[in-house]
Amino acid sequence: MNSKTQNRRFVVIGGVAAGMSAASAVKRDDPSIEVIVLEKGEFISYSACSLPYFISDVIKDYRQLIALTPEQARQERQIAVWLKHEAMAIYPEKHLVAVLDRETGAEKTVTYDDLMIASGGTPINPPIPGIDLPNVFQIRTLSDGITIKQYIATHAPKKAVIIGGGYIGLEMAETCTVLGMEVTVLEKLGNIMGTMGNEMTAVIEAELKHQGIRVVKDIDIDSFEAIEGQCGYILADKGKQHFETDLVIVAVGVRPEVALAKGAGIAIGETGAIAVDATLRTNLDHIYASGDCTEVTHLVSGKKAYIPLGTTANKQGRIVGRNVVNPGCCQFKGVVGTAVTKICDLEVARTGLSLMEAKRFGFPATTVTITAKSRASSYPGGSPITITLILDQTNQELLGAEMAGKEGVAKRIDIFATALYNQMTVQELAELDLSYAPPFAPVWDPVLVAANVGVKKLSS
Ligand SMILES: Cc1cc2nc3c(=O)[nH]c(=O)nc-3n(C[C@H](O)[C@H](O)[C@H](O)COP(=O)(O)OP(=O)(O)OC[C@H]3O[C@@H](n4cnc5c(N)ncnc54)[C@H](O)[C@@H]3O)c2cc1C
Repeated sequence: MNSKTQNRRFVVIGGVAAGMSAASAVKRDDPSIEVIVLEKGEFISYSACSLPYFISDVIKDYRQLIALTPEQARQERQIAVWLKHEAMAIYPEKHLVAVLDRETGAEKTVTYDDLMIASGGTPINPPIPGIDLPNVFQIRTLSDGITIKQYIATHAPKKAVIIGGGYIGLEMAETCTVLGMEVTVLEKLGNIMGTMGNEMTAVIEAELKHQGIRVVKDIDIDSFEAIEGQCGYILADKGKQHFETDLVIVAVGVRPEVALAKGAGIAIGETGAIAVDATLRTNLDHIYASGDCTEVTHLVSGKKAYIPLGTTANKQGRIVGRNVVNPGCCQFKGVVGTAVTKICDLEVARTGLSLMEAKRFGFPATTVTITAKSRASSYPGGSPITITLILDQTNQELLGAEMAGKEGVAKRIDIFATALYNQMTVQELAELDLSYAPPFAPVWDPVLVAANVGVKKLSS
């Protein structure tokens, strides 16, 4: 198709990170293409990543989370946003989407030349009795964040239980602590933070304990029990344990929202998310997908993975937009799985594979762990950074890195991410010319200390 044909129409399903990035990229590259965004919710283009800080009141007003309102999208970018409009079905052979106006109940159709599915992810809703009680919340959308903040303002809960010790659960544990609640985190598995190594989770658990947050692992929730219509306590381990609470946040993971895609005959990949090629096209012509509803290639394992992150959604969305204008012009190669989070006073980050994942994929993996200071010892301040490197014993390449510390973690992880992207060996990592000045790093940066210890281990 000629990329500059008049009156082409690009329809986007989902108006947050991936969807709005694609819509904006199309308009930037070819303003003549008509762009319509269908969003079933009440908001578009907002930072879900900032929700914990909005609820804790570090960010006062929900409007600070919004990058673009529907009105701004229309006026400044000529993007038509159909708010509270849900795509109900896609008819690929007719290039048509059936849409429900959730406000009026009216049913409509919209035709497209190109379509993008950016339907995101949905929080996993474990089938636990009582999960529908009014003070049991999930956190995903801006509307969820506003509801939780309002609930806290009107009910002043004193105790909170967080179900799930992943990064969103722990961010919410921090939020509730900041708001003065007594917080317990209940984690089904034997470890918090997914597959992170024990050295790192020990540092995180020590910080949580220091902040007064209780963590209970290896626990099975039986039910959320009501007292006067609200969840008053949680039963666990076949009634052997119970936890009193005034507020519950369930954060046990996200699954890709693929019902619409499946209904249209779009191929779903081995991870359960939409399969796309490097140009982010699905198996159907003129239908793209990206963001939390799609799977990605993990550049370290070479396998497909489901790693729903805002950074990926934004990049993929832009690539879809550019490909809509000039088909095949851009590719999304994949991810190395880089993520960072703040857990109370700690910065926690990871990239690449954990030891558990590396072993699962058959790598001959080993680890080294070091602790080194974030600044020169002559300079005041500074604090320890713990780093674990996951290394391939055969080809000596870096497979992954995990870090935790009070400062200097969040951006140092990007050195390891860059090394992974370029398939560097630990020796090459040890030879990097990294910056040094006492206020920012010791002369041997913790990254170089870890790499040197890695080199030693692999050569011994
Ligand atoms: C509390 C929290 C903290 C996070 N922190 C980070 C972080 O620090 N760093 C990071 O990288 N990522 C973070 N994330 C993840 C990040 O927010 C997501 O990866 C990102 O929002 C994904 O964008 P998306 O556009 O793919 O999907 P979504 O943001 O899920 O948006 C999809 C949209 O599609 C709409 N939709 C779905 N189906 C339909 C339909 N049929 N018709 C019309 N509309 C539809 C939905 O209503 C939704 O608005 C965090 C997420 C949460 C919840």
